[in-house]
Order: sequence, then C-alpha cells, then structure tokens
Amino acid sequence: MFRNSKKWIVGCLLFAACMTAPYTGRSQLILVSEAEEAAIGLDAYKQVLTEQPRSTDSARAAVVEKVGRRIATVANRADFKWEFALLKSKDVNAFCLPGGKVAFYEGIMPICKDENGVAVVMGHEIGHAIARHGGERVTQAALAEAGIAAASEWLSNKAPENRGEVAAAIGLGVQLGVLLPFSREHETEADHIGLILMAKAGFDPREAPKFWERMQAASGAKAHPEFLSTHPADGTRIAQLNSWMPEAMMYYEAAQKGETFTPGAKARGAN
Ligand SMILES: [Zn+2]
Repeated sequence: MFRNSKKWIVGCLLFAACMTAPYTGRSQLILVSEAEEAAIGLDAYKQVLTEQPRSTDSARAAVVEKVGRRIATVANRADFKWEFALLKSKDVNAFCLPGGKVAFYEGIMPICKDENGVAVVMGHEIGHAIARHGGERVTQAALAEAGIAAASEWLSNKAPENRGEVAAAIGLGVQLGVLLPFSREHETEADHIGLILMAKAGFDPREAPKFWERMQAASGAKAHPEFLSTHPADGTRIAQLNSWMPEAMMYYEAAQKGETFTPGAKARGAN
C-alpha cells in the first residue's frame, strides 16, 4: 500500500489528520482512515482464523467472551464489530485488531489465572486498537519508507556495489531510530488505557501489576513478542501502573456503585 509512494505520502500529508489518543491525550499523526484500518483488521483476523484452530475449551472461551464484552462496552466504540476468539495454541499471546477483532491464545490463560487477569490483557489489547496504534505504525512505516526512497535516489548516483550495503544500513537505522521507540511508547500507552478500561468495566485494576509479575515469572514460556521484548522492562511497567492507579481507582470505585467516572479536564479525549 505504501510502496513506491512518495507522491502518495506528499498528497496525504496535505490532508494529515492530527489525532489525540484517548485517555492519555497524546498527539498522533495518522494518515490512514479508520475504515481502511478496520478492513485490514478484518482481513488479518480471517487469515488467523484460517491458520489457527479455535480452542475446544469452551469454559475458557466463555470467560474471554464475557470479559471482552464488558470491556468493549466501556470502550465506547459502537462502530466496532467486536468478536472474541480463543485459539488453540500454546503461544503466550493475544491481540485486538482495528475494528474490534480480538483473539486470545490458550497459552496466556494460565498466566491470566482468572477474569481479572483476562481483563488486564483484554484492556491492554483493546487499548492498542482504540488508540489506533496500527494506523499510527503504518503511517510511521510509510514515512520511513519515503525517507528511504529519497536516500535510494541519492544512492543511484553511487557505485552499484555499495548500494545494497548502504541501503541496508539506512533500513536498520530507520528501524531502530524511528519505529522501535514508538512501539515502546505504544506499549506504555496501551498499559495506561488498559488499566482504565478494566477499572471502568468493574475489574480491579490492582490486579494488573500482579498479572505482569506472573508474566515475568513465566517468561520461559513460548511468548510472542507482544508479550516480550517490545514491552517495557517489568520493573518500569509495574512502577508506571502504580503511578496510574489513583486515576484507575476512581473509575473502579464509580463502577462498583454502578456509576461512570468522568474526569473534567481529560474528558475530551476520552470518547
Ligand atoms: Zn502491547
């Protein structure tokens, strides 16, 4: 989609939408439409379901569905076509694609332990989706690629034998310098949004640091990168979760009384 697309990039930048992430208020540059993101999400979801059989553990699948519905309700995305699947795989993994297609892998369920643990993962994954991290990542990749295209033009005047080497170095630099730090930021933001979503849905946010401690203890398991290297170091993550806890507890305590907590100053980005 964003291959050989310098003109496409320039055209899109003219109509660049500067978005605001929900709850955190972080500014984002996203050059794909939500409809396009949802279409890509749906295709990817279908693909995964063709390749990966569903779990036969109907009790656990029901927990994923139940927790998912509760968190989806407070995520305020009536336009999402929510679906929740438990897949038969020992991988320690879960995802929520743009448009609301969620999958948990059986391997993460023992670490989740109970509904609260499922809510931690569910909130985090739905957090990635409602903050449009996929669209933001695609945008970053497209911009990085346009940079490479410009560099390639310059390289075409150089000796052909050096071209591949230099292009590889630029590619590596782009990946380390632009894409990787952004994805750590996304992980932190998904933690923050996830904590609020679980609390808003009536799950105890104080269970989140405990879940990540269990995840750390199980780090020998066959974990997908989503639950390994791209995540902040666990000590940092737990400190961050605790720093957001007073905010999350306001949502949780309101939910316990059947009310919805609405923060005055931050309410604008919260839909
Ligand atoms: Zn994540």
